[in-house]
Formats: sequence, structure tokens, C-alpha cells
Amino acid sequence: MRKPSILVLYTGGTIGMMKDRNTGSLVPFDFGNIYEHLPVLRTLDYIIDMYSFENLIDSSNMTPDVWIEMAEKIEENYEKYDGFVVLHGSDTMAYSASALSFMLENLAKPIIFTGSQLPMGMVRSDARENFITSVEIAASKVDGETGVPEVCILFENQLLRGNRATKFNAENFNAFSSGNYPTLADVGIKIKYNREFIMEPTGRPLIVHKKFDRNVGILKLFPGITHDFVKHALSTPGLRGVILETFGSGNAPTSEWFLDELADAIRKGLIIYNVTQCKSGSVEMGRYETSLNLDKIGVISGYDITTESALAKMMYLLGEGFSHSDIKRYLQESLRGEITI
Ligand code: ASP
Repeated sequence: MRKPSILVLYTGGTIGMMKDRNTGSLVPFDFGNIYEHLPVLRTLDYIIDMYSFENLIDSSNMTPDVWIEMAEKIEENYEKYDGFVVLHGSDTMAYSASALSFMLENLAKPIIFTGSQLPMGMVRSDARENFITSVEIAASKVDGETGVPEVCILFENQLLRGNRATKFNAENFNAFSSGNYPTLADVGIKIKYNREFIMEPTGRPLIVHKKFDRNVGILKLFPGITHDFVKHALSTPGLRGVILETFGSGNAPTSEWFLDELADAIRKGLIIYNVTQCKSGSVEMGRYETSLNLDKIGVISGYDITTESALAKMMYLLGEGFSHSDIKRYLQESLRGEITI
């Protein structure tokens, strides 16, 4: 039988660091010698190839250009490999996994993002387990079919849908949560796949979308937010889409100045997408008077989407050049399993 083949893309982040023996400082790990560092990989009997990005970054420096580079590498190698593992810093991993999910339409192979809280070269590191488990999941087959044909995040003992995940802990090995969607797999003695929650491939050929519009913003509401602040944020030159992070089930102040600023911006063509600040639960516009007003002026409901996913989706839809009305419709539809309607 043919051995499963996996391509590992190394973009940077803590996972790829180790202490330099001479200087004691953290330097990138040489994944070219991966079998030397992790001889246990040989027992998996897979073909594992590595591609290291030229410019290894802390994921706080992530940009849509790097997302495009990742998608291009996957596209170039799509037929050659059974699955892909992306080694990535955890800080912006949820944004990147969301972006890749929108870029890769009709995906039929696993793309597993993983990273770690401690560098690969440290004794108590979580990097080794996360890496090996990700490779195993990327190679998994169920009844001869690809196990998880989705963009996912694997951290510690959970496999999450990438566009449903959020980094919620800066220290724990269990760093990600998915407040509105169940785990795709639970990792213990065995990897237990939750088949009913894993997406079915469409059966159509892969389409790779490579355009993002960066003229977007996130406006997080807080008690005491000033008129000036809202006005300036909404009049940012070129701004086309805003993720409005609201309270609870999508609520916002009822002050006249606030609603007028939003209504005025919407009239001028800005798309405002209502996403809750809560890590779990959904926007329900009209449940309270404080969200009914938003509905009336044309704010779009983000239901239970995460902020990371909402941002990537907005950049993607604007970048693809859809009409204003199509963008509004797609924002309220599940394109890649990112939202529950
Ligand atoms: N700052 C790092 C990064 O996101 C943290 C990590 O790798 O987890 O690149």
C-alpha cells in the first residue's frame, strides 16, 4: 500500500524555536533534519516533506500576503500530498486558519494548523506532541476516504474547525477554544473523530481565491465610548467593512449620535457586521431594543461567527469583488462552516 504523504509548511512561531547551544538564545529549529530531532516520526511510516518559508515570522507579523503564499504552496502541491500541516505561531493562528478556509473552496484534504506554547527544543515542550498528532491527523483515512477535509487547528487534545477557533489562553497548553462548534476530534489514547461534525467535501475541483481587501476594521464597543472615537474610526479613508464587536447578543448603545454615525456610514456604502464580544452564543438582533436599532439601520448580523473569522470573511468577500448585496447575503450564510444560521 502507498505510504501517506504529508507536506509540512513552516511559517515561524514558537514551535520552531530551540535554544542555541552556544548563545542560549532562541533560534529557528532546523526542520530539514526533522527525523534526526524526532526519530519517532519514522515509526509512522509516512512520507513527510518540509517546506520552510524564507522569512520565518512571529505570527504577530502575519499579513494577507503570507496567507496568499501559504495558499499558493498548498495549491502547487495539492495533488502530490494527502494532507498538509502548517506550523504557525499561535497568536494569530485563528485568523490565518479562517483566511485559508475561505481561500480554499471545495477543499478535500486536511490542512492542520498547529504550534506550541513552548519551543520544540525545550524539555517540557508541547511542540512534539502537537506536531506528531497533526501529522497523524493530516494522514488519517476513514474507510479509505480523507479523515478531515477541512482547515483545522490542532492544539493539545483538541482538533477544532479553524474558522470557529479563538486563542483564549496565553499560557496553557490548551490555548484554543471553539465556543460555538464542537471539537472535530478529541485526542487521548486514541484520536476520536467526531464524524457528524466534520464537513463533507463538495466533490468539485479546488478553487484557490487569492484576493483580500485590507480596507476593513474592528470596532469594539465599551461603556463610555466617545462620539469622536466612533466618528473617526468610521471615517477612515477607504474603509469598506467594519466588524462591530457588540455586547452580549449583539447589543449596542441607543444614543442618537451613535446610531446616526452608523446609519450615515451605511448610507455611504460601509458594510457593518455585528459580532458579539462573547466567546460563546449568538447575535440575535431585535431581542433587545439595544440591537433592534442596529437592525433597522442596516447592520448585518454575524450570528455566532468569531471576530477572527468575520474579519477574514469580510476581507475575502470585498477582495473577490462581489456586489454589495451579494456580500451582505454571503455574510449571513455559512460558506465554510463558519456560522450557524
Ligand atoms: N508570539 C508567538 C507567535 O504567535 C507565539 C506562538 O508561537 O505561540 O508567533
